[in-house]
Amino acid sequence: MAIQYKTTEEIALMRKAGILVGQTLELIHKNIKPGITTGALDALAEENIRSSGGIPSFKGYHGFTGSICASINEEVVHGIPGDRVIREGDVVSIDCGAIVDGWHGDAALTIVLDPIDPDDLKLSQVCEESLWRGIAAARVGGRLTDISHEIEKYINSQGKYGILREYGGHGIGTEMHMEPHVLNYGKKGFGPELVAGMTLAIEPMITRGTERMKVMPDKWTVSAMDGSRGAHWEHTFAILDDEKVFVLTALDGGKERLSALGVEISTLLN
Ligand code: MG
Ligand code: MG
Repeated sequence: MAIQYKTTEEIALMRKAGILVGQTLELIHKNIKPGITTGALDALAEENIRSSGGIPSFKGYHGFTGSICASINEEVVHGIPGDRVIREGDVVSIDCGAIVDGWHGDAALTIVLDPIDPDDLKLSQVCEESLWRGIAAARVGGRLTDISHEIEKYINSQGKYGILREYGGHGIGTEMHMEPHVLNYGKKGFGPELVAGMTLAIEPMITRGTERMKVMPDKWTVSAMDGSRGAHWEHTFAILDDEKVFVLTALDGGKERLSALGVEISTLLN
């Protein structure tokens, strides 16, 4: 499968899916609290996506039953929403995808509940910042692994974290998972050239301990082998014809976080 390059008009359509995913994650962030089940959060997400004219892309994906993934504590990704009750002090990663008019958006965040363990908070913050630094490293004429390298470099500069090896980011467009695969580690200067029209989902996944994972008996949930807590942050972004990036799943297009890193976002989608 080749990389799918998009026109500005197509990226503008992807922005609609991106906004819907961003709003859905914001809704979950507002409603998450001790005592609520992951299934209740999933219902909120599905209702929000469908009432806005979208389709939850996770639902039915290779038999997945939720509209979100909800992964708690040592679960890092792909947790199935259901009866599990969220507790005080939990670390909860929520991943969400939606399709609007045939175009996909995909994003994730980690929420650390009160009472906050400072090491959990740092875990989540390091993961999130590595995502933004990865996106900020995307330059027209550069290579895909420039992003991978920047993610790994930042995480390793912040302490000892396990960076998941078998899972990574991906191209996205008329399908959720497309070429190329985006590693969260590696040397820079390899892989496809970064050019205008590319849209990528970047998603670092880290733990406070090991990088080694096991898939649980439910065949989906990916948990840290040593039981250490994990974080997962993700955004879908595009490179536009003005050679600038735009974060399709961030409500502000990534303006705030990228400007803090000295990167201006594209104005072509306004
Ligand atoms: Mg995702
Ligand atoms: Mg993804």
